[in-house]
Amino acid sequence: MSHTCMDEYDPNSLTVEQAHELIDRIVEPVTGSERIYLRQALDRVLATDIPAPFDVPPHRNSAMDGYAVRASDLPQDGSTTLEVIGESFAGHPYAGTVGARECVRIMTGAVVPEGADTVIMQERVTREGDAITIDSGHSAGDNVRHPGEDVEAGDAVLRTGRRLNAADIGLLASFGIAEIDVVRRPVVAFFSTGDELKGVGIPLAEGDIYDSNRYTIHALLERLPVEIRDMGVIPDEPEAVKNAFLQASRHADVVITSGGVSVGDADYVKQTLDALGKVDFWKIAMKPGRPLAFGRLGDAVFFGLPGNPVSVMATFILFARPALLKRAGAAASTPLTLTATTVKRLRKRPGRQDYQRGILSQGKSGLVVDSAGLQSSHVLSGMSRANCFIVIPRESGDVEAGTAVEVIPFTGLF
Ligand code: AMP
Ligand code: MG
Repeated sequence: MSHTCMDEYDPNSLTVEQAHELIDRIVEPVTGSERIYLRQALDRVLATDIPAPFDVPPHRNSAMDGYAVRASDLPQDGSTTLEVIGESFAGHPYAGTVGARECVRIMTGAVVPEGADTVIMQERVTREGDAITIDSGHSAGDNVRHPGEDVEAGDAVLRTGRRLNAADIGLLASFGIAEIDVVRRPVVAFFSTGDELKGVGIPLAEGDIYDSNRYTIHALLERLPVEIRDMGVIPDEPEAVKNAFLQASRHADVVITSGGVSVGDADYVKQTLDALGKVDFWKIAMKPGRPLAFGRLGDAVFFGLPGNPVSVMATFILFARPALLKRAGAAASTPLTLTATTVKRLRKRPGRQDYQRGILSQGKSGLVVDSAGLQSSHVLSGMSRANCFIVIPRESGDVEAGTAVEVIPFTGLF
């Protein structure tokens, strides 16, 4: 297949950055929140700041197994002997006060008793019966953790827009917080378009293919804090596409379609969006995924993804995913990009920014990246083999072996 210069340099295409900016300007978080139990909170988005209800640690406690003493009893040189008057274990504090020339046996995390201000680790003392001998070389306050050292009461532990991970959930539990307010999950309606598409489990007739995009998109959405509405396959008929748009716009906060977005005779997505909503743009100077209709349909944000399966994934990951997270109330976060050295020459034409499928691995002296194989936008097996996008800038031509390139690891993205 041959490309003309006109093909690659389309004056009506936005750059990837321009498309990001435009989407970010238009997409707003949904309103509404719900109270949920902590156990249900994984990946949900906080609707409020969470102030610490108390100091962490809540009390003075020991960082070591050893003996709680008064710093004033510590020897400047030589050694001294103190009487062991009791013990303080985690969950079982010593009730009394440590007086002059006295000490308390103490375990890690246990409350440092009143009167004491220093903990001497057990390896640094000699114990005989109820007496310990301590040498010099210790400082006042050693091995004592203070209240509020980690977090002070009233400080925001986590903030609005935080998408909760396992550490966050543990942190909330450490404060005894049982329920939290999270942002309502935006409703995402999606459907495929195409007369050739069959659902899995149905035999294929001549010219049919299975509708893989709907399964990919469903799986991509399952990783996000959204409510999923699968509307099935819509045939390439203007009336059917129009009805699907109207139905989707009635209940969805975001509508996602795949296929039918170019300018072929059976491509009705863009013209339907034009008629029923607003097209903000529909071409991006990127590969794969140039036709991507973005716009609005009633109160919903609309993404008309291309039909080719790799283009679907690239445009979803790069554009729909951040928009969905923003709509879901999540604070902005940019996917991690790394630099890796190419193993082989990568083919590339100037004019569009490439997101080639790559295999990133640890080489002897840093990260290396190889091509995941055939780079056509219908080759889903390459996307399955790959573990990163190799980002090749718009103006670049072929990239020689041994060149430093930018990669976006798939980890955490889907
Ligand atoms: P279109 O933009 O509708 O012309 O689609 C471009 C290419 O992607 C065509 O080869 C379609 O058959 C294919 N395609 C469209 N939708 C899907 C889908 N849901 N699953 C798999 N392939 C698709
Ligand atoms: Mg089609």
